[in-house]
This record gives sequence, structure tokens and C-alpha cells, in this order.
Amino acid sequence: MKKIMAVNAGSSSLKFQLLEMPEEKLITSGIVERIGLKNSVFSIKFNGTEIEETFDIENHSVAVSILLNKLLEMKIIKSFDEISGVGHRVVHGGDKIAESIVIEDEDIEYLESIIDLAPLHNPPNLIGIRAFKEILPNVKQVGVFDTAFHHSMPEESFLYAIPYEWYEKYKVRKYGFHGTSHKYVSHRCAEIMGKKPEECNVIVAHIGNGASICAVKQGHSVDTTMGFTPLEGIPMGTRSGNIDPAIIEFMMNKKNKSAKEITNYLNKQSGYLGVSGLSSDSRDLVNAAEQGNHRAKLAIDIQAKRIADYIASYYVYMGGADAIVFTAGIGENATSTRENVIDRLSVLGAKIDRERNNCRRVEALISTDDSKIKVYVIPTNEEVMIARDTLSLL
Ligand code: ADP
Repeated sequence: MKKIMAVNAGSSSLKFQLLEMPEEKLITSGIVERIGLKNSVFSIKFNGTEIEETFDIENHSVAVSILLNKLLEMKIIKSFDEISGVGHRVVHGGDKIAESIVIEDEDIEYLESIIDLAPLHNPPNLIGIRAFKEILPNVKQVGVFDTAFHHSMPEESFLYAIPYEWYEKYKVRKYGFHGTSHKYVSHRCAEIMGKKPEECNVIVAHIGNGASICAVKQGHSVDTTMGFTPLEGIPMGTRSGNIDPAIIEFMMNKKNKSAKEITNYLNKQSGYLGVSGLSSDSRDLVNAAEQGNHRAKLAIDIQAKRIADYIASYYVYMGGADAIVFTAGIGENATSTRENVIDRLSVLGAKIDRERNNCRRVEALISTDDSKIKVYVIPTNEEVMIARDTLSLL
């Protein structure tokens, strides 16, 4: 039995889970928020209780040291030696890293060299790795990359039809994201169906604030909707997903804005928020749509149409699919969105069972018995995946 820490470090936050492996039993979990600001909040759940404390935590190293000392103080561990490994979520592994790795100094150098591929995400991930390395120098630090699962995509999926030199020189290609979630959910789906991952084709719809779909053929990603950045694909809470790229120059001229400013609109003022003019949160839109708000309904329908379009295209690409799985905040909770998507796929023989679909945040089969494709809800669990990979690399 080993205790493994799974860490997800953001620019001002650090989420953690301590798991007992290989049992995959959650020992404790929590989050440090507002790192670097006044009144940082540290909260931890243990033995059915949740403790919240406010400190001034100036940086991630201080956050890590407070967290580890809290584990001692609360007698969750007796000494730091009990932590066998720390697994870190890292968003971008570039075109070199195709699987989880033990992070050595040269890997940190490589990750720094590709920061321009994920300028918002990789820097805080690296800060988290450094902070743990400093305080636990003898404990292996493992990187688990959002992009790694998609390395199995064939060239025809990951290459854009742009000058080939852009790919060769600047590594412009589809990378795909949410890989840890797509892998966990698709492999769990195979298990639920009583099959090995290599015995089935699964289409995963990870629909949260960020959203992507993945075609998982015989256990491997063969295409996904997010691309060079997490902006591509289906519309999301505030992201546009695919648009005609010519819109960028057109709107730069109309609004007298830079490319950066227009891209910012596409990342932060589009999707649910942009179309509805109301909110980026699916709950707000579902409520507003129920009360007859046309643009809220439209925002939901545009997304549902695109999700169905991609599922259908992946169904064709893989030569059929055994299952479609919904996961993440919206996929696990928004019953009406699941219905909206599956109803659009009736031509493929997919049929939703409205009663079975009336469930939230649980593993459930939600298709009818005569549906040609099984449809499931499977809550994602990236932390377990991080802990599994970390354990296997120790
Ligand atoms: P991310 O991790 O990408 O930030 P999440 O996976 O947490 O996002 O998903 C957030 C989304 O899930 C929000 O749009 C939120 O409204 C939606 N969501 C959460 N709970 C519910 C619910 N009960 N019904 C509908 N949508 C929900």
C-alpha cells in the first residue's frame, strides 16, 4: 500500500488529493486558493469533516509547506516519508511527451521551452512541481499530461491543412486536451461493459466549462475536438469553438482591435456567454431557456448540435461505436443537454431512456435496452488516473 498525492496547480490555486494506492481510496482532499493574494484560503476534507482556514500564502512553496504540515498536524500522516510519490497534472507536454513521466531537471527545461504552447497553464503547473521538489527532494515527482493520451492520433487527424513548414518549424498541429479524463472515462466504460479497452470503440463527451469530444478506438485516442489550443472544437462556457478563421481579420478591422484582443473575445466572451448574453454557466442557461429566453435556448442548441455533429463524425471515422459517454460538470449533471444531444443521434440508432437519464454525478446507463449504441454517464476522475500513473512509475 502506498500513499500518493495527486496535484493540480493553477495560477493562484493548488488542488490536492492524497490517495491510498492501488486501492484508489481517497484519504484526504482539499484546495488552497488565492495563493499570492491576501486572505488565502486553505480547505481540507478528512474523515467526513471539512476544515477551512485563512492565511496569507505568498507563493506555491508556502502553500505546499502549509499543506504538508497540516497533514502531520491532523495526523493524516506520521511523517513525510509516508508519501511515496507526487503526481502532477500538466496541461501541455508538447510534441515530445507521449506518456506520463518521472520529472527530472531536463524535463523541466523542456517544459519551459514549450511554455508558449500553453502560456496560461504550464507555468503554474511547473511552479507546483518545483514547490514539491523543494520540500520533498527525495520523493519522485511524476508529470501526467493532458495532451499525452492524444499522441496516438494519426497524422490525418492531428495535421492541419496549412503550410507543412508551420508544423515542422513551429509545431503547429492538433494536440488535444482533457486526455487524462478521456482515458479514464473510456477505459472505465470498457470495464463497465465487461470488455477490455482494446475490444471497444467509445466516444467521450467531456462537457464542462471547457469541453471536448474524443474518439477512442480500441483504447486509443484517434481524434479529438480541441486542437493546437483548447479553443478549437465545440462551443464552451466562454469559448467559441470552431469559427471561420477569416472572421478574425474581419473583426479586427471592424472593431479596430489587435489579433490578441479578438482572440481574447473568442476565449472569454463567446460560447454560452457570447450567444446568450447572460451567463457562461449551464445552470443559468437551462433555467432561462425554461422560462422562454430564446438566446439561452439558442446557446444550448448550438452547442448540442455541434456535439452531435462530432459524435456522428467520430462514429463514422471509427467504423461504429459501442458507447457514448458523458462526463464533467455539464455531462454529469445536465439531463436536458444529454437528451438534446442523443435525440439528434436517433439516425444512428441511439436512444435515450428518459427515466434512466434522470440522474446526476453517478455512473449510469442512460440508453434504452434497444438502443444501438449504449449511452453512459461516468463521472470523471483525473486524480485517480494521476495516482495510477504515478504508482506505476515509482
Ligand atoms: P471545468 O472543470 O471545465 O471548469 P466543470 O467540469 O466543473 O468545468 O463544469 C462546469 C459546468 O458544469 C458549469 O457550466 C455548470 O453550470 C455545470 N454544472 C454543474 N452542476 C450542474 C447541474 N446540477 N446542472 C447543470 N449543469 C451543472
